Amino acid sequence: MSAPALRFSVDGAPVEAKAGQTIIEACDDAGIYIPRLCYRADLPPGGQCRLCTCKVNGRYAAACVTPVTPAIAVENDTPELRAERNTIVEMLFVEGNHPCPFCEKSGNCDLQAMAYRFGLSATELTYQFPNRDIDATHPEIFLDRNTCILCGLCIRASRSADGKAVFGFENRGARTQLTVNSPDGLAGTDIATADRAAAVCPVGCIVVKGTGYETPYGERPYDRQPIGADIEAQRHPSAERKDADV
Ligand code: SF4
Ligand code: SF4
Repeated sequence: MSAPALRFSVDGAPVEAKAGQTIIEACDDAGIYIPRLCYRADLPPGGQCRLCTCKVNGRYAAACVTPVTPAIAVENDTPELRAERNTIVEMLFVEGNHPCPFCEKSGNCDLQAMAYRFGLSATELTYQFPNRDIDATHPEIFLDRNTCILCGLCIRASRSADGKAVFGFENRGARTQLTVNSPDGLAGTDIATADRAAAVCPVGCIVVKGTGYETPYGERPYDRQPIGADIEAQRHPSAERKDADV
């Protein structure tokens, strides 16, 4: 006999979760989008970007690592959380170098798409213009740390999906940066274009050479629909938010 569903609420609307699900998993199933940049359903969660932070019974919690427990009240789409998520996205833009119009990832980039979803077109924060290393040593895969948002997805993908350990972080604090497990750069690693780690980057830091600009403007993934629309399209009628919460 399967375990009974757990009932909880998101922005006042009733939602059901399977036993063991995290808040983000249950909300995805219910068609409720919680913004995220460092989460993929098929990889272990990292809780790194903090964009999925919700309030659970009034306390902040990252939805990707917080299990559903009975009757919790989750706040997700509120003015307060929207403002905090905007700030996180703005900080990610100013901490790196993001010339979107020229970037190979444009139109297929989760950070750019999140900015569009949030209506962000400019920031009052100070741009830091870091000068980070690029790595063009590999014949098929390019690494431009200037756009890295330190989400850790490539690290988790390389370890858990590819059975390798190509990527890691080095240094601390503001000097933290992506590193690879060879002194010869990416060319000295065993990464392959078919690896999950080569495709998982949500921004333009890890790209497969020769694939940029393949999709014409207007047909790129986020030209077609906003980020999160695929999840919201699955919304079950029972998970509709109440009018008062919209
Ligand atoms: S990685 Fe994304 S946000 Fe950064 S420049 Fe490229 S498209 Fe823009
Ligand atoms: S290279 Fe991409 S996937 Fe890896 S930490 Fe940076 S942004 Fe995340």
